[in-house]
Amino acid sequence: MGPALAREAGHCAQCRTCPLKNGGPPKRRLSNGHCYGATFNSNCVLMSFPLDHEGVWCEVLRRPANGAPALFLDRDGVVVEEVEYLCRAEDVFLIPAAETTIAMANAMDVAVIIVTNQSGIGRARYEWTHFAEVQREILAKLSVSGAFVDAVYAAPHHPDGRGKWRHADHPARKPNPGMLTRAASELGIDLARSWLIGDKCIDIVAARRAGLAGALHVLTGHGKRERASIPKQQPAAFELRLGASIADATYLLQRISTNRQVGADGR
Ligand SMILES: [Mg+2]
Repeated sequence: MGPALAREAGHCAQCRTCPLKNGGPPKRRLSNGHCYGATFNSNCVLMSFPLDHEGVWCEVLRRPANGAPALFLDRDGVVVEEVEYLCRAEDVFLIPAAETTIAMANAMDVAVIIVTNQSGIGRARYEWTHFAEVQREILAKLSVSGAFVDAVYAAPHHPDGRGKWRHADHPARKPNPGMLTRAASELGIDLARSWLIGDKCIDIVAARRAGLAGALHVLTGHGKRERASIPKQQPAAFELRLGASIADATYLLQRISTNRQVGADGR
């Protein structure tokens, strides 16, 4: 078992200037309470995060086959119960049937890709360290049922963000499609045969803007509050489905499977 993550700035004899306090890379706190910095101790554990040049989390856990369709999943309120600014592993609770739906997609060779806005990071409510801890817990809970996620994208930018995370309308933040289009270019995902499940309007809009086949809006998370705001009329090339939860994704997976052999437009 490795040393615990250092969540907060502390007073450590080894680091006269606390790296956490000064916005440095996350550290691990050792059993003696010290969090060691690279410049002070060679036994330190420096964490590196899969951030692209714009600071968007782009993590590929298992590379899907080139040209595969994807099931894009919003995370909070779709895969896990909605918790305001989820940043602690102990607050992770899977939404019922999330694991079975994901396992079903896995069995059908449909790439499962989480796309999540993380304004909590942009607003300095928590750090990537905490996001990584939550992700680890989610993946561990899914793995109990043999379910796995192929890739994770997270956008920290927000109009009210601090410093480099402040951005009026970052292309990766939903409702913009940047996380989905990144997945398409990095993983060779066939967007026209892909679907998204989300609890907010911004999820549905991002799916439409990315050119997905369709999206499922669910009532979990913020879904009940947002349902009335979802435009009933959608472009003909985009199919909107309304469901209760991620458990209703069987239809989407059947559609993806049925369209597998049809061609580039999938329909
Ligand atoms: Mg959500």
